[in-house]
Amino acid sequence: MNLILFGPPGVGKGTQGERLATEEGIQHMAMGDLLRAAVREGTEAGLKAKAFMDGGKLVPDAVVVAMIEEKISADKDAGFLLDGFPRNVPQAQALDAMLAKHGVSIDHVVFMDAPKENLLERLSGRLICRACGFGFHRQYSPPQKSGYCDRCSGELYQRDDDREDVIAHRLEVYQEQTEPLLGYYQGREGFSRIDASGEMDLVYAGLKQAVVN
Ligand code: AMP
Repeated sequence: MNLILFGPPGVGKGTQGERLATEEGIQHMAMGDLLRAAVREGTEAGLKAKAFMDGGKLVPDAVVVAMIEEKISADKDAGFLLDGFPRNVPQAQALDAMLAKHGVSIDHVVFMDAPKENLLERLSGRLICRACGFGFHRQYSPPQKSGYCDRCSGELYQRDDDREDVIAHRLEVYQEQTEPLLGYYQGREGFSRIDASGEMDLVYAGLKQAVVN
């Protein structure tokens, strides 16, 4: 199964995408995680991306398209879930061209939506493990030991771009650049829209429903 999850920052793409990918035995390709790894490793792409990410702006299309093509061409036989890519219409067009070139098709495109209040609450309380990238929330899914990851005991931190001023900008960028993807994908076979405002298990049930068969 190959699928695309898209929606605003903080809607739960990472949490839900990770769970679904694990359950389906497919690759979870989270563009933000790939970029953060590239920044940590100091690769050429990471050096180019850092300032854009810190400011809550989109990294140039050429950088992210090249990174995702490398991933897809390596892992296409295993099945994949794209999370955070594409994030604008030119990226979606580049993805379609790339998939055609590699003979791969997308089975489902799921749009996750939630009101702005939920997004703000989720983003501002989010904590990430520095070692394994697993996500927690101060209020909704706190770690057992404050400050440390339940999975690997790594240190938890707040992402620089989860600060209130940057969050506001990311939501604007989403509205201007990512929301138009709805027009691009709506009406395609395999498209669905799910309500991601509820608690985690409920949202997951909606996601599973969207990708049956
Ligand atoms: P995320 O972890 O999905 O919230 O992404 C964090 C940041 O990485 C975003 O605010 C962007 O700066 C960058 N980013 C992630 N995905 C993309 C993409 N498809 N295109 C451009 N920039 C991206």
